[in-house]
Amino acid sequence: MTNNDPDADFTQREDKSAYETNAPVLYQAADGIATITMNRPAFHNVQNSQMTYALDDAFKRAVDDDSVKVIVLCGNGKHFSAGHDIGSPGRDINKPFERKQLWWDHTNKPGAEMLYAREQEVYLGMCRRWRDIPKPTIAMVHGACVAGGLMLAWVCDLIVASDDAFFQDPVVRMGIPGVEYFAHAHELNPRVAKEFLFLGERMGADRAYMMGMVNRVVSRADLESTVYAMSAKIASQPRLGLALTKTVINRVEELQGLRSTMDLAFGYHHFAHAHSQVMGVGSLGGYDAKSMAQANKKDNAG
Ligand code: ZN
Repeated sequence: MTNNDPDADFTQREDKSAYETNAPVLYQAADGIATITMNRPAFHNVQNSQMTYALDDAFKRAVDDDSVKVIVLCGNGKHFSAGHDIGSPGRDINKPFERKQLWWDHTNKPGAEMLYAREQEVYLGMCRRWRDIPKPTIAMVHGACVAGGLMLAWVCDLIVASDDAFFQDPVVRMGIPGVEYFAHAHELNPRVAKEFLFLGERMGADRAYMMGMVNRVVSRADLESTVYAMSAKIASQPRLGLALTKTVINRVEELQGLRSTMDLAFGYHHFAHAHSQVMGVGSLGGYDAKSMAQANKKDNAG
């Protein structure tokens, strides 16, 4: 194993990110429906902080606009999202942003504190914040919905997928027990969640539908029309009624243990990152974007 992680030695950390776009998220609103599009197609919409904060701005804009009743989240290009940015030139984990939670800035912190503070803010904190947006959200998923991409789909109220979509969390390979927003055992039956994580295999849209993780599966050609027809129907409902309904069901999931599960998993998640650093292979078990893609390719070839 090689140490590919630029953060293994925090004293040498500096921001070397170079963005390929100034518009990592696109926003459009019409007929009561806001469409928020992840727009890093060259990198399969991997999520860097630039995109995270742009997503947050877009969600805020949709919430603030009284004419918007429903929010659709989708990805530009071949895939919905290939996960967190662990290797594009725009990877910006050492760059400070104006934070939305009250955890302190991570960029100058030593040891495991750096990633812990960062992931409280940009992964767990942001996902919880987006899950509680008081307007219905629909993830329109095509192609890959992997790791960090799953988190973005899971925070949405409904998930509509095209039949070419697949879902996958391969991070156990890095020694990590699943992505930061650990909803696996709530989105899936626990035994299926174990299979999903242990094997790290792709779950096709059809099986995800059977598991109740996805609301509808349609052909790629019908994906947009299906999502917008559902959105139009939802948009005809009263705003407050929708917000109250969403709030109740989100609280039900918390009463079922979602929040506690996630807090517990987040602790283990950071134990795993820290263990990996103690072992001298960086925070990702010695993997980077390239070696993960290679391992994944080999896995899915058979
Ligand atoms: Zn992490």
